[in-house]
Order: sequence, then structure tokens, then C-alpha cells
Amino acid sequence: MVKKVSKKEAIEKIERFFSSSNFKNKTAKEIKKIKRFAMKNNIPLREKRKLFCKNCLRPFYESSIRIKNDFLTITCEYCEEKNRWRAV
Ligand SMILES: [Zn+2]
Repeated sequence: MVKKVSKKEAIEKIERFFSSSNFKNKTAKEIKKIKRFAMKNNIPLREKRKLFCKNCLRPFYESSIRIKNDFLTITCEYCEEKNRWRAV
């Protein structure tokens, strides 16, 4: 039932998902699905992880981004989870 995809195809699918113009309208369910897809195909999301909340998996939308002590903090407006990354 599960179609085996090549790594190249998998990367393309993920790129398409995150660069689509309606990414902000993606649901947590869709993001969960693509995350699992990436994991299954051993594809690191890297920078793309900054596009959605690690707690509720919703795309960030007009969230407040703060940079403090070399850390980038995005507060999710849905669950108020603080997502932190080392600012590059
Ligand atoms: Zn959240």
C-alpha cells in the first residue's frame, strides 16, 4: 500500500510542501504527516523545523520572533510554546 519513493522524490515532496504558497494554511495533521514522511525517508528538516511549532505542529503565523543571547525564540500563538533555536 505504501509506495516506495526514491530519496530524490522524497526531498522534492518535502520542498514542495514547505515552499507552497498556502503553507500557512496547512494543518497540524498535514505537518505531522510530512514530518513522519521525512523521518521515514531519513531526510533532516533542518531549517524547515523553524516554520512550525514543535509542540502543536501548526505553522507559525505572525508569531513574535525574538533574538536574545544568540537564541532565536518564536512564541507559538496557538499553544504559547516557546520554540528556541541557536541564532546563526
Ligand atoms: Zn504551538
